[in-house]
Amino acid sequence: MPRPDFPRTLRDFQTRFENDAACRQYLAESRWPDGYRCPRCGHQDAIDLPTRALWRCKGCGYDTSVTVGTVLHRTRMPLTHWFCAAYLVATHTPGLSALQLERQLDIRYETAWAMLQKLRRAMVRPDRELLHEKVEVDETYVGASEVGLRGGRELREKVLVVSAVEVRGTASGRVRLQIVPDASGPSLTGFVKANVEAGAIVITDGWLGYAPLSGMGYRHRPRTQGDPKRADKILPRVHRVFGNLKTWLRGTHHGVSHKHLQAYLDEFTFRFNRRRTPMAAFKTLLGLGAQQSPTTYNMLYGVELTG
Ligand SMILES: [Zn+2]
Repeated sequence: MPRPDFPRTLRDFQTRFENDAACRQYLAESRWPDGYRCPRCGHQDAIDLPTRALWRCKGCGYDTSVTVGTVLHRTRMPLTHWFCAAYLVATHTPGLSALQLERQLDIRYETAWAMLQKLRRAMVRPDRELLHEKVEVDETYVGASEVGLRGGRELREKVLVVSAVEVRGTASGRVRLQIVPDASGPSLTGFVKANVEAGAIVITDGWLGYAPLSGMGYRHRPRTQGDPKRADKILPRVHRVFGNLKTWLRGTHHGVSHKHLQAYLDEFTFRFNRRRTPMAAFKTLLGLGAQQSPTTYNMLYGVELTG
C-alpha cells in the first residue's frame, strides 16, 4: 500500500476527509503503511470498531487503537474537526487564531482555543537538527505593540528575541527564534551554540556580544553598517523574518502576553520550516510522526484488552 499523499487544496481535503470513517482509514494507513498487522499475533485481518477508533484482530481479538499516541486519542470531538484544524494550522500561512477556527468549524470559542493549544504542543522545538553552512543571526525587541496589550503591567515591557536564519542562495532555509534575557555575549553566543552547527559561517552585525563566536569554532563574519537603521541591508533574511513575525503577532493574535510569546515563536518557526512540506506539518501536528517508524508492540501497549 503506498503511503497516503497530501491533499493540495481545502476542497480536496474536505472531499477526502468528508467523514470520520475516512479519517480513521487515514490513521490506519499511517499506522500500517504496509497493511494491518496484529501486534500480538501477526494476523492481517481486522474489524474496524468505529465508535472507539479501534481495530479488532480477527485472529485473536486484540484491540489496537488507531489514535493512541496522537492528539486524537479519546477525543469527543469528531475526527473531521481535528483533521480540518490541523490542515488549516499546517497550511494557513499567517497562522490561525482560535476565533478563526471557531468560525471555520462552527464550534465554541473555548473548544477552538483548547484544540489549538493541543495542536501547538507538537510545535515545541520538534527540530533536532542544527542549522548549518551559512546563517544570519540578529536580535530584535518585540515591543509594547506586540506584547502585553491586555496586561497593563506588561505594557511597557519589551522582550528581546534572537533569531538565526539559514542562507540558501538568495532565499532562506530554516529559522530558529528564542527569547533571551539580554544582548550579552553569553546570551547571544549561547543561542548560536544551541542552534547552529560548529564550523558554519555566522553573519552578524558589529555588536560585541557576537565577538566570541570566532573562538567557539564558527566562521564569524561581522558586517559593520554605515547607517545603523539599515541593518536590513546586511542581514536581509533575518530582518524579513522579524518583520513577518511582528506582523503576524499584531494581525493574527492582536498581541500576545509575554509568558506565551515563546510558544508563538515556536509556532512561527514550525510553520516557516515546513512551508514546503505541509504533509509533514499536518502529520506532526496530529502526532502521527512517530508512526512512520514500524509500530512495535510497546508503542501500542496500554490499549484495553478484550475477552
Ligand atoms: Zn491478533
